[in-house]
Amino acid sequence: MGGKVQWEGLVCSVQPRIRLTRSFDERSHTYLGYVLRVNGLADGQADEFLVAIGRAAQEKHRFRIGDRIQGASESVADARLESASYYKTSGLKLTQRQAEPADDSPPYSGVAPALEVYRERGHRRLQPAVYGKSCMPCIWGCRMPVEIIIDHWNPDRRKYRFETFCYGPKSCRFYRAGPTRKVPGRKGMTWEEEDWVDEEATAHRD
Ligand code: SF4
Repeated sequence: MGGKVQWEGLVCSVQPRIRLTRSFDERSHTYLGYVLRVNGLADGQADEFLVAIGRAAQEKHRFRIGDRIQGASESVADARLESASYYKTSGLKLTQRQAEPADDSPPYSGVAPALEVYRERGHRRLQPAVYGKSCMPCIWGCRMPVEIIIDHWNPDRRKYRFETFCYGPKSCRFYRAGPTRKVPGRKGMTWEEEDWVDEEATAHRD
């Protein structure tokens, strides 16, 4: 398997793998696939780790919480651009299937939908502490790597960070927006992403 790490374990969450690019008040999303949180062994060591997979792999296997899986992956080359530790996965195998949960209450643990569904639904910002406490197992949660172009006249000036979002029902009892996000720009300027941005992004659904 070359320089790949062999791993296996229990799926603890399946969330979309989406990268966000910001340039002051503009933003765009890159829909890369899915991120699996796995509790098991990586390189023979007990660990909980995140594995990035492509959209085709998720469409084929329909991974969900409780499945046992295995594979071999490379360590991520640039940790600023991925929320996972591993990617470029091969030999992905489902070794034990978990039944789909009957319970439909948050955090939602069914099969994660197609990436087009996330795109169509739009997201609201999600307080990082709430994500860490309640939303990590939820198919509607997402921790995105964010690449910020500080100056579009000098696009090499970039900053990186992570932001958490919710694509789920607006009625979810766990949801908290948290403080508004600020995006640095050229000449020390700052764009504040106010509540109306989230309202507009999700106005088409209840
Ligand atoms: S707030 Fe969003 S991500 Fe968190 S449990 Fe509710 S629907 Fe899921």
